[in-house]
Amino acid sequence: MSKNIQSVRGMNDVLPGESEFWELFEETVRGWLKSYGYRPIRMPIVEPTPLFKRAIGEVTDIVEKEMYSFVDGLNGEPLTLRPEGTAGCVRALIQHNLAAQQPQRLYYMGPMFRHERPQKGRYRQFHQVGVESFGFAGPDVDAEQILMGARLWDDLGLDGIRLQLNTLGQPAERASHRAELIAWFERHADLLDEDAQRRLHTNPLRILDSKNPAMQEMIMAAPKLLDHLGDASLAHFEGVQQILRDAGIPYEINPRLVRGLDYYNLTVFEWVTDRLGAQGTVCAGGRYDGLVEQLGGKPTPACGFAMGVERLIALIREAGGEPAVPGVDVYVVHQGEAASRLAPRVAERLRDNGIDVLFHCGGGSFKSQMKKADASGAAFAVIIGDDEATAGEVTLKELRTGDGQPGQQKRVGVDDVAGEIMNSLMDWEEA
Ligand code: ATP
Ligand code: MG
Repeated sequence: MSKNIQSVRGMNDVLPGESEFWELFEETVRGWLKSYGYRPIRMPIVEPTPLFKRAIGEVTDIVEKEMYSFVDGLNGEPLTLRPEGTAGCVRALIQHNLAAQQPQRLYYMGPMFRHERPQKGRYRQFHQVGVESFGFAGPDVDAEQILMGARLWDDLGLDGIRLQLNTLGQPAERASHRAELIAWFERHADLLDEDAQRRLHTNPLRILDSKNPAMQEMIMAAPKLLDHLGDASLAHFEGVQQILRDAGIPYEINPRLVRGLDYYNLTVFEWVTDRLGAQGTVCAGGRYDGLVEQLGGKPTPACGFAMGVERLIALIREAGGEPAVPGVDVYVVHQGEAASRLAPRVAERLRDNGIDVLFHCGGGSFKSQMKKADASGAAFAVIIGDDEATAGEVTLKELRTGDGQPGQQKRVGVDDVAGEIMNSLMDWEEA
């Protein structure tokens, strides 16, 4: 016997019941982005593999072990399913010379792909909303993007999402810190785990991010980047904090927040919650002033963040929000030849007037159709038998009433049904 084909491990269907949460989330997010003047951009899901290697960095988790890379069998091109959105966004910015005339505020949402071990809050296809700005060098836009986060949590009705902030300084400052850091780790080589040993000379900053309990004390005491920062970097960091303080946004400075991607400089931040277990980061981002030039564009300061949609939806669901399962206004019941020819036209007429209609398909007795009408959650049944059809009328039956009284029913001319229903719906809304 052949086995039914299942979805790829770590790649999930979102079914009705949950998908309504997603739609509500997306609606909220679109309104929120509009209120900050960010404009949508849509990039392909597949990009040339070298793009990610150059943008994210060869010795990062993503490039080393998480990318879905393959060779296009038809032309031999190395391709990768995007593991994140910033690289593609910058590629598009350069390719279409978007930042030449004026700074840009952009956003995208959609699936990302990383070959990770699937677990709660960690999937192989997951979804991000990403926000990027290009052409703003000052701390004001960093702070804007952090304030955006705070507002979105509020719009979504979420609390308990804490802000962690750090600065990575500039490449030269990092280099001098890096040298000291390597020396420090070498002095404590006996404590380094396998991952850390591998990173010691490639990406020692990432060791600071290790969650290995045995290394925590040694990491806490390691040399701090903050001590290597010059005036400009410190002023930028202070500028961001000033705006956050003025806005009353609490934050915690976390010197170990280094982010997993190579392209960041200066401000980095994460929004974290304790309510999702180990996968507690719902949003992360920072400044990446070098990336546009590194990918072949003109030097362009840039800042952005991305949030994990699955983790935010999990929080929304945990907060007990009910998804608005969209009920229809009307269920159309019909039986008989003349009735079944009139009924689709009546339904379309109602929809012309903005009324949502579930049209009964599949025949059956009036009784069984009425059962379906009741179960549909519709406010009205529009019932059409041949009797009604001959008279150019329908029977309009209230399935639920604003005041909880048993529903009335009456005969209404075909031209008057929409008006009757709209009046009742309006009355109920006012009541
Ligand atoms: P983590 O430390 O959880 O692996 P990351 O640093 O790799 O996260 P980013 O590349 O910064 O994550 O992506 C931004 C956000 O996207 C994360 O904060 C998280 O909410 C979400 N995210 C990242 N990877 C996954 C995944 N595999 N499944 C679900 N959500 C993810
Ligand atoms: Mg990761």
